Amino acid sequence: MINIPYGRQDISEEDIAAVQAVLRSDWLTQGPAVERFEEVVQNYCGAGHAVAMNSATSALHAACRALGLGPGDMMWTSPNTFVASANAALYCGAGIDFVDIDERSYNMSVTALAEKLNSVCKKRGLLPKIVMPVHFAGQSCDMREIGRLADEFGFSVIEDASHAIGGRYLDRPVGDCRYSSIAVFSFHPVKIVTTGEGGMAVTNNAELAARMRLLRSHGVTRDPGLMKGPSQGPWYYEQIELGYNYRMTDIQAALGASQMRRISDFVRRRHAIAARYDKELAGLPVVLPWRNPDALSAYHLYPIRIDSSRTSRSREQVFTRMRNAGIGVNVHYIPVHTQPYYLTLGFKDKNFPVAERYYRSAMSLPLYPALDVAKQDIVVDELRKALA
Ligand SMILES: *Cc1c(COP(=O)(O)O)cnc(C)c1O
Repeated sequence: MINIPYGRQDISEEDIAAVQAVLRSDWLTQGPAVERFEEVVQNYCGAGHAVAMNSATSALHAACRALGLGPGDMMWTSPNTFVASANAALYCGAGIDFVDIDERSYNMSVTALAEKLNSVCKKRGLLPKIVMPVHFAGQSCDMREIGRLADEFGFSVIEDASHAIGGRYLDRPVGDCRYSSIAVFSFHPVKIVTTGEGGMAVTNNAELAARMRLLRSHGVTRDPGLMKGPSQGPWYYEQIELGYNYRMTDIQAALGASQMRRISDFVRRRHAIAARYDKELAGLPVVLPWRNPDALSAYHLYPIRIDSSRTSRSREQVFTRMRNAGIGVNVHYIPVHTQPYYLTLGFKDKNFPVAERYYRSAMSLPLYPALDVAKQDIVVDELRKALA
């Protein structure tokens, strides 16, 4: 029986040895391996600071808190994302709204963003404190333009770069934060690099990094410079904020640092597989992913659209047939605002028609470093049959 998942981690003997070494050491949780992993990612991205956490969800929440998001504030993100991006604002007690996506890139549309900002401004409504673009499938959003709007309208930018470590934008690594305050990576097993569970926030702002470090560990400090009162002894620490336990373990960080040695191979493999899909699927009644010339995607996903103008097969028929053939296709994403929880907040189907239309036709094909030519041929063959 064929079983080809849509994504899968790639673990080497070196990765296993790195984890074993931590298990034999004095530190299991946040310790020297976390610091080393942070340094590796920070250098790779060319960012000033890196703060590892136990998930990207935690890192997005801490990033929002560090930027002061709270009740009475608003955050805007893309509807074409995992629920975690939007939930980060709700954890802070802030309001959430969405900006529809671009037809070609499936990323937040900068045209729609500019229109919405201008319209809210004209009505003297509440402008967002934070805009969170999501680099869908690993391809960067139009960050230069989002950065320009941030300057004009006075909001901060958090990049949800969960899909995009290893990607590039305007010849610089995603995560250099040239056009944002903070960027966040995920190390979930289906993402580019994994730590099992894990995430990291990168920033060029030392104060934001310090705030996220504090929030990562209960809001507790041992730094006399930050304390409100005099030290009561060498045991003394102070809680100066309401923080969380968002710490990454050294076990996870050792895996992450070891994985980072192969990130270029991972991205190269993903590009080779994507290029082969581009070639093999040309001519089928599907829309292939668009490549933005300003960006080099990390190719977390290979999302296609079933083109209903050229086939009578529905997305559901194609999807079911692929799954029945043992091929783990997936759909990214159910628009967040159409989730039952978000409907209770007042969102409606039809609020963001481009994302909804995209969703109805979308299907992600298997894409991971160990997907070899033989397996990929099976995927292509099955897709051809499913569309016939
Ligand atoms: C995976 C993912 C997250 C959450 O990452 P975790 O590390 O699992 O918390 C957030 N946003 C997007 C876009 C994701 O794909």
